[in-house]
Amino acid sequence: MEKLLNYIDGKLVQPIKGDYFENIEPAKGEAYSLIPDSDESDVNLAVAAAKRAFPIWSKMSAQRRSAILVRIANLITENLDELAQAESRDNGKPLKLARSIDIPRASSNFHFYGTAILHYASESHSMEDLALNYTLRQPIGVAGCISPWNLPLYLFSWKIAPALAAGNTVVAKPSEVTPYTAYLLSRICIEAGLPDGVLNIVHGYGPKAGASIIEHEDVPMISFTGGTATGEWIARTAAPKFKKLSLELGGKNPNIIFADCDFDDMMDTTLRSSFSNQGQICLCGSRILIERSIYNKFKTEFVKRVSKLKVGDPNDSKTNLGAVVSESHMEKVLEYVELAKEEGGTVLTGGHRVELEGEFAKGYFLAPTVIEGLPHTCRTNQEEIFGPVVTLIPFDTEEEAITMANSTKYGLASSTWTSDLKRAHRVARELHTGIAWINCWLLRDLRTPFGGVKNSGVGREGGFEALQFFTEPKNVCIKY
Ligand code: NDP
Repeated sequence: MEKLLNYIDGKLVQPIKGDYFENIEPAKGEAYSLIPDSDESDVNLAVAAAKRAFPIWSKMSAQRRSAILVRIANLITENLDELAQAESRDNGKPLKLARSIDIPRASSNFHFYGTAILHYASESHSMEDLALNYTLRQPIGVAGCISPWNLPLYLFSWKIAPALAAGNTVVAKPSEVTPYTAYLLSRICIEAGLPDGVLNIVHGYGPKAGASIIEHEDVPMISFTGGTATGEWIARTAAPKFKKLSLELGGKNPNIIFADCDFDDMMDTTLRSSFSNQGQICLCGSRILIERSIYNKFKTEFVKRVSKLKVGDPNDSKTNLGAVVSESHMEKVLEYVELAKEEGGTVLTGGHRVELEGEFAKGYFLAPTVIEGLPHTCRTNQEEIFGPVVTLIPFDTEEEAITMANSTKYGLASSTWTSDLKRAHRVARELHTGIAWINCWLLRDLRTPFGGVKNSGVGREGGFEALQFFTEPKNVCIKY
């Protein structure tokens, strides 16, 4: 079986102890490659390499750094087919999704930050005839970047690209559940001529390899995307060491659908926002709040369309939902369906594993699931499920919808549907979310701030926000 390798100091290397564990293909429920079970000793090597590379990389002109990052972006595009196939196989997602979203976006991330750094300027503040202040924004050192399994290369590159563009060196760990495209990226970085040690990729388990990065004395900043419980542990561990932290965490996003919306547009988009990537996008809307006057119309049409979605072979272009990422995740999602029933909910469609035949007989497929009849305060409507499960909840007034939308501990994204302009602005202002989409979902401009409020995270990624996170501002004051 193929063994993946760590990428340390410009070379592809085995883990020091030589230990590996199996990488499972979710659509088949079988191992197909081996992942390095790296530990502290591998992380120490990676951090030492990143530290050595920092003076060279941070002092390299922005133009030269930019050229290398743009080369990586171009190589990702040139290798689109291989990367998309690898992502689909590793994660279970439909190949067409990996081809159209995940991999193009990974390329865009490198291109965006490779060019953004050329336009990154700082402020100056003149004190009349007394003095001039200007702000130096300097790279910090070794950045620790840790990302989850749902959008593997997309989110991995969303951290690495700005960290490198700003002049830092990086030690990164992809999710152990989906490491393959990060491994392919290390080969691309070598081909692109990224200097040795500038990016180091260490594979392995979160609590072992990941925790060693978080705890390392020579890693002064951490950019993490993942679950809220892991984020809390990272915050507790990093705080006494005064590390800079960016945490992008879980969500329980509301869709708020008013009766005056463009029904067809809303329906098409709500299907996507509910079940894209098997509902495993942190931005997926999982609580659908519907104005009571159109509740039955919505329910009838939505359930009809959801029950026609095709679950199956990720390589089939007609497939709408592939496999969920792992057996344990599938079990977790099914437990939430049982919980919903115990809490009094009615499953309108789905709610079960989909058994396929042949090579996919052991795959982790779930039917897209719609549940109604639950109060907004119950666990099913408060906890993140992160799978193809949504609930329908009617509301009578705008205030009620906002109260329900804001009632969870999370605050990542929302999607509101209305043709009333004033209401759109009002609701967007009142929602406790980092992103408030109006009449759309997942429409992303990479220049905009990205992140959540409350337990959905701390800090912002995106645009110059990420470059500010990955640099330290210094006030220089010169007396006239
Ligand atoms: P986890 O928190 O379990 O893992 C995220 C990453 O952290 C993985 O690489 C994991 O490694 C690693 N990790 C786990 N434990 C530790 C530790 N103690 N120290 C350091 N690293 C650790 O999340 P999932 O991978 O399950 O991802 C799903 C979650 O991510 C959902 O809650 C989702 O909402 C959230 N998410 C948030 C986004 C946002 O932008 N706000 C975007 C996408 C997802 P390993 O896999 O090896 O355990």
